[in-house]
Amino acid sequence: MAKRNTTTKQLILDSLKNSKSAVSQEILQKELGEAVDRATIYRVLNSFCEDGIVHKILGDDGKYYFAVCVNCSEKKHKHNHFHFRCLSCGKIECLPNEMEVKLPEGYQSVNFNGFISGYCANCSNSSLFKQQ
Ligand SMILES: [Zn+2]
Ligand SMILES: [Zn+2]
Ligand SMILES: [Zn+2]
Repeated sequence: MAKRNTTTKQLILDSLKNSKSAVSQEILQKELGEAVDRATIYRVLNSFCEDGIVHKILGDDGKYYFAVCVNCSEKKHKHNHFHFRCLSCGKIECLPNEMEVKLPEGYQSVNFNGFISGYCANCSNSSLFKQQ
């Protein structure tokens, strides 16, 4: 691997870790600026997903968002949490509660894709709260 490649990966990972919410490829692109091209971001994000470093979230707006994993290992993601999108500030978060889903006998879950949209604590409490 070229050294430059490692640096780019580190840049993207840092930016994901520093973000308090899940980010889309567009947001990452804006943060990283011209330094990293679209194709590279795409490739790095997908390799992070495969390595159990980040997970991909399909939002109810049809876009993919990426969030850092906590206890995942290579080739195996291990989380059953819902994701929450705030309709007011647009933030997408991993909810801390792990959900236990009972599947019928003999079924095995591989991917859990729970999604909720609404208003986050900040926005619900805000006097600027506006119904959209
Ligand atoms: Zn994961
Ligand atoms: Zn909000
Ligand atoms: Zn998550």
